[in-house]
Amino acid sequence: MGKIIAISNQKGGVGKTTTAINLSSGLAKLHKKVLLVDFDSQGNASQGLGALTSEGQPTIYAVLMEDYPIRDTIVHDENSGVDILPANMSLAGADLMMDKMGSGKEMLLKNVLDPIKDEYDYILIDCPPSLGLLNTNALTAANSVLIPVQCEYYALEGVTQLLITIRIVQQTSNAGLKIEGILMTMFNNTTNLSVEVSQDVRQAFGKLVYQNSIPRNVRLSEAPSRGLSIFEYDPRSKGAMAYMELCQEFLNRNEGKTK
Ligand code: ADP
Ligand code: MG
Repeated sequence: MGKIIAISNQKGGVGKTTTAINLSSGLAKLHKKVLLVDFDSQGNASQGLGALTSEGQPTIYAVLMEDYPIRDTIVHDENSGVDILPANMSLAGADLMMDKMGSGKEMLLKNVLDPIKDEYDYILIDCPPSLGLLNTNALTAANSVLIPVQCEYYALEGVTQLLITIRIVQQTSNAGLKIEGILMTMFNNTTNLSVEVSQDVRQAFGKLVYQNSIPRNVRLSEAPSRGLSIFEYDPRSKGAMAYMELCQEFLNRNEGKTK
């Protein structure tokens, strides 16, 4: 049974897309079949793995709004081994159109993913930086939510807001929604702030927080401009090692494998 995981935090710039790209790629390296769903109109996940190349190429917009076949929209990235359902600016239009629809408007993504769910081990959704209808669609389609948290002031406030949204979705459109884990990103162990924020988040959320944090590493920010995951761009970087450790921890949680 494929598991669908929404990577969500309404704050922008906290490492959602970086985590979506590199967790997908790392799991593919570990022989998992992975679909990365780009659900942000900025299309950063698609571009970051070189998946949107031609004008007029179908995107998730066509699948959601025009009944375009999902299998004809998915692109296979040879470098990373990840399948990608790409997005671009048109998704912003879908957001507006969905809003005008009647009941069931939060089920649209679930309805298109369910038929292909079991063709994958994991389906990761890169969510937009908002708590609007696209995010609700992602949380409704998902089995669980992975929350990246940047080690900075106000980190906890953002998470609290997201947890309220998760509770509402659990009470309305997806009773089974779980928290997959909380990931500390852009960690810098030489600053007191990073260390303090990390301690606070661990104190507040305990075992939900992954043991592995992702360090601030410039190679992680360079890789997307080449259309490569960190494992292709610089496999020996600190960033690559941290994301591989995260993949192992993720699989331990999900499949009980030992390292
Ligand atoms: P989001 O999807 O939440 O908006 P991104 O993953 O796009 O966040 O990250 C925001 C910016 O920070 C991007 O420029 C990205 O390359 C950079 N970035 C993300 N994680 C790291 C990291 N661990 N170290 C250095 N730069 C990072
Ligand atoms: Mg993003």
